[in-house]
Amino acid sequence: MNDYKRILVTAALPYANGPVHIGHLAGCYLPADIYVRYQRAQKRDIKFVGGSDEHGVPITIRAMKEGVTPQQVVDKYHALIKESMEQMNISFDIYSRTSNKIHHETSQDFFLNLYNKGLFEEKESEQYYDEKAKTFLADRYIVGTCPVCANPNAYGDQCERCGSSLSPEQLINPRSALSDAVPVKRTTKHWYFPLQNYEGWLKEWLIEGHKEWKNNVYGQCKSWLDNGLQSRAMTRDSNWGIKVPLPDAEGKVLYVWFDAPIGYISATKELTNDWADYWCKEDTKLVHFIGKDNIVFHCIIFPAMLKAHENFVLPDNVPANEFLNIEGDKVSTSRNWAVWVHEYIKDFPGCEDVLRYVLCSNAPETKDNDFTWKDFQDRNNSELASIFGNFVNRTFVLMHKLCGGKVPKLHEDIIDEKDKQIIADIKSAKEKVESFIEQYKFRDALFEVIDLARKGNKYMQEKEPWIVAKSLAENVTAQKSIDNCLHICLQLTANLAVLINPFLPTTAKKMLHMMKVVEKVLDWENAGSMKLLSVGYSLRAPELLFRKIEDAEIVAQVEKLKSGLVKPESATQNVESIKPNTVTEKSVEPLALNAKPVIQYDDFAKLDLRVGKIVAAEKVEKADKLLKLFIDLGFETRTIVSGIALHFKPEEIVGKQVVVVANLAPRKMRGIESNGMILMAEDVNGKLHFVNPEDTVNAGAGVN
Ligand SMILES: [Zn+2]
Repeated sequence: MNDYKRILVTAALPYANGPVHIGHLAGCYLPADIYVRYQRAQKRDIKFVGGSDEHGVPITIRAMKEGVTPQQVVDKYHALIKESMEQMNISFDIYSRTSNKIHHETSQDFFLNLYNKGLFEEKESEQYYDEKAKTFLADRYIVGTCPVCANPNAYGDQCERCGSSLSPEQLINPRSALSDAVPVKRTTKHWYFPLQNYEGWLKEWLIEGHKEWKNNVYGQCKSWLDNGLQSRAMTRDSNWGIKVPLPDAEGKVLYVWFDAPIGYISATKELTNDWADYWCKEDTKLVHFIGKDNIVFHCIIFPAMLKAHENFVLPDNVPANEFLNIEGDKVSTSRNWAVWVHEYIKDFPGCEDVLRYVLCSNAPETKDNDFTWKDFQDRNNSELASIFGNFVNRTFVLMHKLCGGKVPKLHEDIIDEKDKQIIADIKSAKEKVESFIEQYKFRDALFEVIDLARKGNKYMQEKEPWIVAKSLAENVTAQKSIDNCLHICLQLTANLAVLINPFLPTTAKKMLHMMKVVEKVLDWENAGSMKLLSVGYSLRAPELLFRKIEDAEIVAQVEKLKSGLVKPESATQNVESIKPNTVTEKSVEPLALNAKPVIQYDDFAKLDLRVGKIVAAEKVEKADKLLKLFIDLGFETRTIVSGIALHFKPEEIVGKQVVVVANLAPRKMRGIESNGMILMAEDVNGKLHFVNPEDTVNAGAGVN
């Protein structure tokens, strides 16, 4: 660490085709920001660059559908994304965009550097072309009928209903997702980057040289390298993007994954004239924060490009996070299963730190994790508010009540073991938090900060200054004891402000205001100090750091999430959010046949489903379809009339287990009152089958 003179941090460029959701934040922007704020507090030379990725086919498709230009699409989303980042206090030194001129020039120079060294392979190939939309089509943009399951909306690379891998040739009646035209084959020429030539070097640099990388990152890279690398086309046929800077390249642009990472270089150029120090000097530490879907591009392809260019430093680490699911289901922008940052800010104004807290303490650092609104509420109410907020509030209230609103003295003569222990805890918290952040373990680091507040609460509870205050008249050391407790708790509060600052910067600022101290107090070197607040200094009245989150707010969010869910109706609709040729979010929901409309969980929860046992059955007179069943539900025996007489003889079904809708309103059939309904499955031939548990369970058992 100390060998580095400067640090350059990048965070994945979000695609300017939609707003950012909390999965993006948890994946890379929040960890990057925590790391950067910590390094700034350490007074290290650090730059934090990012920007919007504004090229690629999905943007042209969206523009075509909305009847606007691609530039209008990216202008809209760039502004929205930038605003969301600012609202969440993601403290980029520059948030740029890849449609800027400087980026076009930087990317073209980069391409020419490799081209002039003869590093590209030029290859011709046959590709599908849409004559109506006048564009070549990636496999994903060709739809047709699946040869395996007859799904009419299978993609040219995969059928999402049956999961079969496909090629466009296998589709029945292939058509363009853009225009519905029948695709034709055309010859086209592209420039390929021969990744296989860098395989040996990558193995040495990454597999041998970076064993300290996170397991999820290292493992994925190793498996890519073990499977062998191949040439990859670095150009595309399109009118939207960075023109290939060669005379015979009309209608060709750089592949979006070639130009996007170069965006980090362009943004640094835009930020500072000293950009080359950050990109070309060996004593720079370059760190890429990304989500797991970008690992191959940042750990294999971009480093190989940098190596080939020869002038640039290589990443020191790529601490990629896994995915954050929402309420147990994968985030899907096409199904609108996401929590959008700009909407969160609207619904929870002033609560950006709460979201930062929840996303960090539940970060998918080593495996996919789940965000639920209940957990959001719990972490706010029982950790932030009741541990951290409560400690700070009690300290301020008691200091005003028992010490005249001023920082009391520390009386060395009566310091006891408990005082010494908490002082030692304050000092050791700094080292723990520091070490975890340097290892990119932000969850663990944040836990240590909260744990220190927890220890503060415990210390105050044991010292009970409010009880001691009752004996002020008869006990000469009572005031001294109160002073010591609150002196220590106040210094601890100041320490908490320093330690929480990288994670919850707004909270740290509020605490500064309460303590009436300048921002310099938040310098990291101050952590562990017991002299942050001067004796006799008067402090402000406490203000609430975190409010309670009410049940109703959580219910409303879950409702909003579920009611916003979009069922993909056509392949075309799904295509929009997909970045071509990358690992993408896939819609996980198969297209059901004759599906009923989506219901909310609450609708389902109204059903009282029970396992019952048929204890007797008899035919109903003059009704050849009906059987009268007597069903043991454990707590009672029900009479249910069921239309299954054509399928079963009464004597055959006695003793069978069934599932009963127990709270269905009673209904009279042929003069018999039926109290409930039994569930049956009907197969393709119209034959009925009982729905029942695999094993015998007690009568009356709930089904949910
Ligand atoms: Zn299929």
